[in-house]
Amino acid sequence: MNDAELIVRAIKTVTGEGSSVPLHTPTFDGNELQYLTECIDTTNVASTGRFIAEFEAGLREFTGSKYVVAVASGTAGLHIALKLAGVVQDDEVLVPDLTFIATPNAVTYCGAVPHLVDVEKRTLGLDPLKLRDYLSQGFEMRNGLCVNLRTNRIIRAVVPMHTFGHSVDLDGLMSVAHDFNIAVVEDATESLGSMYYGRHTGTFGLSGVLSFNGNKTITTGGGGAILTNDPLVASRARHLTSTAKTPHPWEFIHDQIGYNYRMPNINAAIGCAQLEQLPKKLLLKRELYQKYQTAFFQLKGVELFGEPVGCQSNYWLQTIVLDEQHAHLKHDVLSSSNKIGIHLRPAWTLIHRTTPYANTPRMDLSCSTSLAARLLNIPSSPSLIKT
Ligand SMILES: *Cc1c(COP(=O)(O)O)cnc(C)c1O
Repeated sequence: MNDAELIVRAIKTVTGEGSSVPLHTPTFDGNELQYLTECIDTTNVASTGRFIAEFEAGLREFTGSKYVVAVASGTAGLHIALKLAGVVQDDEVLVPDLTFIATPNAVTYCGAVPHLVDVEKRTLGLDPLKLRDYLSQGFEMRNGLCVNLRTNRIIRAVVPMHTFGHSVDLDGLMSVAHDFNIAVVEDATESLGSMYYGRHTGTFGLSGVLSFNGNKTITTGGGGAILTNDPLVASRARHLTSTAKTPHPWEFIHDQIGYNYRMPNINAAIGCAQLEQLPKKLLLKRELYQKYQTAFFQLKGVELFGEPVGCQSNYWLQTIVLDEQHAHLKHDVLSSSNKIGIHLRPAWTLIHRTTPYANTPRMDLSCSTSLAARLLNIPSSPSLIKT
């Protein structure tokens, strides 16, 4: 048996043989159907009904965020969060190279330019030390704002992304952001349930954004939420995501150009049921990690990625990283696992290699490039643990 086959065999000891083992599937084993039926029976499928407020309250309680605004998607949430961080036309916003394309897209929707920064292998997220070094040359503080001397644009915000549920080094990141006066919007779309020294990810920056897309830890079908402790950001987010309509019993008064980014009640209904199951799902995901740990314990050349020091991860997507000498196995592992229906996936195409961002500004991206060549996500559904 060659090295690639040994890796696939290790995965199979955890997932079993089944004809198809997806990377991640949602499970609906709570009150989903009951709540959905209530929406239909009461006709409260859209902006009326009890579930939006209840979902937001549940998220406030779970994350400890003072304010939560449910929205139509994580991407929509990032767009609004960036606007409320003051991002305008021709600003630059720092985003990691290793992320889903929605992160830089949200920057582009604001008319701003994503500026790609490298990640660190300890967290798979933005590297604050490397960023600090980078900003101390070729950038200048002007009227209290960090300006890129090459492009003459303001670095308005930074979007750390908690990759696969593992928290970024938030102490380091918050400190750089503070020193260069850069607003922090956390892309916490993958990290519901992930803590950094006991505090929920997404609650450190000016705002943070969750996603409830179908493949995330919990789902609303499609949806997201903006977390913030700032009352003004919260009220503006609520206003902007609901077409900037000012309350009036019958008149349509819109005081600016807003967006139709609200989460419908029917999606929030699924969210309420999913949220009830979240603690159980998180335990199962941790148990799955431990099973993989046993399976990979003695394998050479490959490491199961574990939560960084000080972090409690939700283990949204389980991740293996090949060492440099075994990087060449990536293709074989992908093809032999997918051939037998076990769905492994490589990391996203790095943002600097995507067509829309081929020429966007960037720093040295050697760590994200190295990681992307060696990283694989392996089946991560909580349902892989039989209860
Ligand atoms: C899922 C995800 C998003 C977007 O979330 P949607 O709800 O699908 O719009 C953004 N960024 C990252 C890193 C994600 O994984």
